[in-house]
Amino acid sequence: AFLDQIDAVEPAVHAFLAVDRDLALRRAGEVDAQIAAGERLSPLAGVPVAVKDLLCYQGLPTTAASRILEGWMSPYDATVVRRLQAGGLVILGKTNLDEFASGSSTESSGYGPTHNPWDLERIPGGSGGGSAAALAACEAPLAIGTDTGGSIRQPAAMTGTVGVKPTYGGVSRFGIIAMASSLDQCGPCARNAADAAALHQVIAGYDPQDSTSLDRPVPPVRQAAERADVTGMRIGVVRELGGEGYAPGVEARFGEAVAQLEAAGAEVIEVSCPRFEQALATYYLIMPSELSSNLARYDAMRYGLRVGDDGQHSVEQVMRLSRGQGFGAEVKRRIILGTYALSAGYYDAYYGSAQKMRTLIARDFAAAFDRVDALVSPVAPTTAFKLGEKVDDPLAMYMGDLCTIPSNLAGIAAGSFPCGVSPDDGLPVGFQVMAPALGDDQVYRVGAALER
Ligand code: GLN
Repeated sequence: AFLDQIDAVEPAVHAFLAVDRDLALRRAGEVDAQIAAGERLSPLAGVPVAVKDLLCYQGLPTTAASRILEGWMSPYDATVVRRLQAGGLVILGKTNLDEFASGSSTESSGYGPTHNPWDLERIPGGSGGGSAAALAACEAPLAIGTDTGGSIRQPAAMTGTVGVKPTYGGVSRFGIIAMASSLDQCGPCARNAADAAALHQVIAGYDPQDSTSLDRPVPPVRQAAERADVTGMRIGVVRELGGEGYAPGVEARFGEAVAQLEAAGAEVIEVSCPRFEQALATYYLIMPSELSSNLARYDAMRYGLRVGDDGQHSVEQVMRLSRGQGFGAEVKRRIILGTYALSAGYYDAYYGSAQKMRTLIARDFAAAFDRVDALVSPVAPTTAFKLGEKVDDPLAMYMGDLCTIPSNLAGIAAGSFPCGVSPDDGLPVGFQVMAPALGDDQVYRVGAALER
């Protein structure tokens, strides 16, 4: 049924970069046989899942939505992919994203944008717009995303779906194409909190192949989503993430959701995190620095696109031609920014200062979590904007990441849950819940309570 829905809506939505119908059906048949033989897989055995095309999967090409990796087949599977398969989930295909996860609208994909199923003229958010749109268009019941500065949560908000960025280290990054390694985290996307929690449970947990993986028990996310009870919980509304610059319809729905949690028994207080004002500037130094370093491996020698390899060009020329053609404008902008920030003589002023500010932002969180169990805010200042509206204005695009970035910088858990549609335009609004590191269950607890 999901494959049929993909056939029906893909021409309009373009959520997927690759789908292999036969492979998916064959896998489904194998899982059926395993279940019939009494094998214990996972509670999600047999459920289809869409996977962001940033994860290595041997079954389909892995491109990171970049022309530089067009047609590349990974020789191995990401740990998350292995866990999905061991759990009996059936991978439907690879979903679209901003090139190397760099963007907030999926418009920087090298293979064309994804359209928001709520309004095909609008962006589905980014970078994980493909996974979110696939859920909203009922092309898949579950999806995998990655979140470096909001790429799971902001698309969830724009499409009225659920997305959770687990605690940094909670889900293995092994086999996930690196964007900014100290910020990247893989997580679940779904249409409700319980489904997301079930998927979280399947993919999370220690992996010795990821040196930043946490060797700690997975937080009790499924129980929390089932319990969905916020009685006695202390919830902090972040003063700095609201007010001027936020669409009235977003503020209205957010306020109603907070009132709903209060009516359900939570104690709501206002909390100030003054350093969040610097989070955007901090992120847009640290992320490009790490990205420029990670993307240096696309040197046209080891894998991917190779242009000018005709005996007439030097190694440097081949590299320059290949990177020049293979990378898109946004990725190039970030490589240049990051290379500059890391260069001798500037390193201390830019990267070094940003790292210090990152520590102060983490301290703001720590101080807030002394007073409350969870923090809440809108996910984004606006609802989904029109395709093309911000492509020529990177700063306006970056501003949309205001609310999601602090939790990546601090490595804490955060999720996006639908809280109705904006009275301004009838488009979905996302409610963000942030909890301390390894408090992922608290994120689901609040998110699930909103669904009641
Ligand atoms: N929108 C943010 C950016 O452009 C976040 C991307 C992400 O989380 N991968 O960097």
